[in-house]
Amino acid sequence: MCGIVGYVGSKQAQPILLNCLGRLEYRGYDSCGVAVSSNNINTCKDAIRVAALKKAAPPLSGTTGIGHTRWATHGEPSQINAHPHLDCTGHIAVVHNGVINNFQKLKQQLTSEGHKFISETDTEVISHLIEKYYDGYLEKALEATLSDIEGSYAIIVTVACESKLGVARKNTPLIIGIGDRENFIASDVPAILDYTDRVMYLEDDDIGIITADSIKIRRHGTE
Ligand code: GLU
Repeated sequence: MCGIVGYVGSKQAQPILLNCLGRLEYRGYDSCGVAVSSNNINTCKDAIRVAALKKAAPPLSGTTGIGHTRWATHGEPSQINAHPHLDCTGHIAVVHNGVINNFQKLKQQLTSEGHKFISETDTEVISHLIEKYYDGYLEKALEATLSDIEGSYAIIVTVACESKLGVARKNTPLIIGIGDRENFIASDVPAILDYTDRVMYLEDDDIGIITADSIKIRRHGTE
């Protein structure tokens, strides 16, 4: 199954993300990675175990970030195919569990519009779609992206210079761990229990924007 995590708060995100990923190892995975957002986005990822990533990763400074353990469905387990996936500008990063069924059509279309793909994954279309639709409003860009993609997904998106995370789910689990001026996102409750036991379960078609002190969730397609 694999896993997905996110953190937004005032602490350094990287050690929290790596710890949360370690708690999701029971779900199985072939690769893992994290992205931390500040004025830009720094990532560290590879086809290795979480413990090895903890040793290999340089310190990535920032208090907003996302992490992923991958179970490859499209593209072999490799550094390039590991998540997070960036857009062309390197200012948007996405982690995704699930499968985007119509990614080939979307990839062709985005390529013809000038987007450059570097991985073999279905997931990378999400980063480029967010890039295409982003005009300063992450929620709007995520909403437009969800209208284009078909399939199953738990998604977390981070954008450089924004202390917020975009989330969405369809047929793939996603929960929010509510902290004190910090919030956590994960595939499953054990990931966040070192930090909080206040949990909110997202439902299919939920879309949301999470900051350190706010959680805004609504159903995709509604205002
Ligand atoms: N389909 C995506 C990939 O192959 C996500 C797999 C997953 O759920 O880990 O990268």
